[in-house]
Amino acid sequence: MRPEVLFSLFKPVTSLTGIGPRTGKLIERLVGPNLVNLFWHLPSGVIDRRYAPSVADARPGVIATMTLEVGKHKKPPNKRLPYKVYCSDGTGTLVLVFFHAHEDYLKKALPEGKTRVISGKVEVFGKEIQITHPDHIGTVDELDELRKVEPVYPLTAGLTLKMLGKAVAAALEEVPALDEWADPAFVGRQGWRPWLEALLEAHAPDGEEALDPSMPARARLAYDELFANQLALALVRRNMRRLRGRVISGDGRLRNKVVAVLPFQLTASQETALGEIAADMADEARMLRLLHGDVGSGKTVVALLAMLNAIESGGQAVMMAPTEILARQHLATIEPLANAAGVTAALLTGREKGKSRKAILVGLESGDTKIVIGTHALFQDDVAYNNLALAVIDEQHRFGVHQRLSLAGKGRAVDVMVMTATPIPRTLMLTAYGDMDVSRLLDKPAGHLPVDTRVLPIERIGEVTTALARSVAGGARAFWVCPLVAESEALDVAPAEDRHAALKARFGDRVSLVHGRMKEREKDAAMAAFVGGDIDILVATTVIEVGVDVPEASVMVVEHAERFGLAQLHQLRGRIGRGDKPATCLLLYAQPLTETARARLKILRQTDDGFQIAEEDLRLRGAGELLGSRQSGLPEFHLADLSVHSDLLAAARDHATLVLERDPELESKCGQAIRTLLYLFERDAAVRNLRSG
Ligand code: ADP
Ligand code: MG
Repeated sequence: MRPEVLFSLFKPVTSLTGIGPRTGKLIERLVGPNLVNLFWHLPSGVIDRRYAPSVADARPGVIATMTLEVGKHKKPPNKRLPYKVYCSDGTGTLVLVFFHAHEDYLKKALPEGKTRVISGKVEVFGKEIQITHPDHIGTVDELDELRKVEPVYPLTAGLTLKMLGKAVAAALEEVPALDEWADPAFVGRQGWRPWLEALLEAHAPDGEEALDPSMPARARLAYDELFANQLALALVRRNMRRLRGRVISGDGRLRNKVVAVLPFQLTASQETALGEIAADMADEARMLRLLHGDVGSGKTVVALLAMLNAIESGGQAVMMAPTEILARQHLATIEPLANAAGVTAALLTGREKGKSRKAILVGLESGDTKIVIGTHALFQDDVAYNNLALAVIDEQHRFGVHQRLSLAGKGRAVDVMVMTATPIPRTLMLTAYGDMDVSRLLDKPAGHLPVDTRVLPIERIGEVTTALARSVAGGARAFWVCPLVAESEALDVAPAEDRHAALKARFGDRVSLVHGRMKEREKDAAMAAFVGGDIDILVATTVIEVGVDVPEASVMVVEHAERFGLAQLHQLRGRIGRGDKPATCLLLYAQPLTETARARLKILRQTDDGFQIAEEDLRLRGAGELLGSRQSGLPEFHLADLSVHSDLLAAARDHATLVLERDPELESKCGQAIRTLLYLFERDAAVRNLRSG
């Protein structure tokens, strides 16, 4: 249960005075529902109101806070002209300008003959020095309050800085002081102050420099977030480990049969990974291993051999893919190989219904079906396994950590292997998987040819189409990728449909289309036609990004490549160059290119190494964006920026390990403080892994 000291922080933002349901909704959409979410919304800028010149000295274009005597009000002759109030300070006259003014209000706020403090941007208009719509009008008493640096927060449409600033300030009033959870010696060495002070300081930057994520206040908050993340992962993992696994150690009879029919030799990396996996499975503790390999590195066959190991010792194995297309594709790869060893494989997705679903469930329950491949339909309540021993999760960055764990509950002590092709930099890997065991497929299978990547302005699309026609005439198959344009799927699909129509006009029926809004059946049909060679050009949105395997495809055109992330482009490009033909990737961009977009495209032209690309991506974009909403399985940090704070991550991880060694159930005084930290960052699930959680 959440500790009482935190209760006030988990109140809805609408509980703040002055925040009604409408503003509350906007705030909720921007930061989250509770007061605590406002804490993590740090200023992105400042407005410096400390400049206090006399009117004669005031520099145009600069925000100034001036003490002035209010003079005449001048009402405009018609509504299109502004209302003016003349003020002075003895050195000159400053005109306050208001459009669509409410006279009553202005008369009250700016009474003639009184002294007022005015803050806003100074402008020169003709001969007049003026401030249009001052940001603040106050009395002399309020001067100190106004002459300061104001934080500027990221906003959303409909929410003003004033409203949000007020909400944050009010939320901060509710903050309790909390016991220190970090290692005091470490905090001392870093020159950090306690959490509460750091939080308040981060929300009260005294200048632009204070916004730097490496400044002590921000670094401290980032560390706390990372520490909570690392503790949570360590706790979950420890619990998985505590659960006894079982000894799975096949005799190799099925694996040998499959290896004998493979048309290639396993790479050294594949052999190593298989050795590590076999050792884990043979161990009493439960396996929790990540198989990390770049696109095309050959993870599927490693997974199949691991599954056969489970089957050799009498168990069953499942493989879960994030999409139906992928599940089908895995089945297509795996089934013939499994059959060669006399093993039956089945498919279970949301689409298997009625009788056919029933038949699959019977096979799984009886144990006749040894391998089942599917989507999360595999883990619905009524799916029962005879003897599930191994679960393989493919491309798991699409799944949440929770799914990953819930799946392990389907059998007795199921070993879990997660496969990912997302080239995650080491630093991020640590945040997403903690110290999960990792096998890496570093060498690419023999025969893999680097893709010839070219970057062209979109104006040259005519040439591209001509070149495409030549390739297709020579027997090549091509992906033509259109970008997502907006959040709305309807809008996203339109450009792909247009491109499809345009290419159809030129290439006729040998062009097809696949996008996320199509029915699964239609998607499959389009994919199948492409795989089977009935069509030459497949226009697609990023639905093909993950894992789609068509070795015959050797050309890829990416339209508006500047709109894609680096990792995404790398994933896309990984769809080609899988066969024996040299492959070409044409990245078409529209001007103007931002510096970052230019750098991204350059990296892609230079390297094919997913890890190098991932590191560059992190450097260029910062982790926040890299872990954007599309990759929902990876944690999103509010305060930590891994392109800056990776040292803190390492420290957080070390400290988390140490703490759990010394105080495994977090029962000491410091342990209690750490529990509070976990709740503060909403890692409640992790606390439940404690004996008295
Ligand atoms: P990914 O790691 O992206 O899932 P896949 O498992 O789909 O990669 O493998 C990519 C291609 O490489 C497949 O066509 C597969 O048959 C082939 N492949 C896998 N291992 C080897 C190997 N050792 N030698 C040659 N080709 C291989
Ligand atoms: Mg794959």
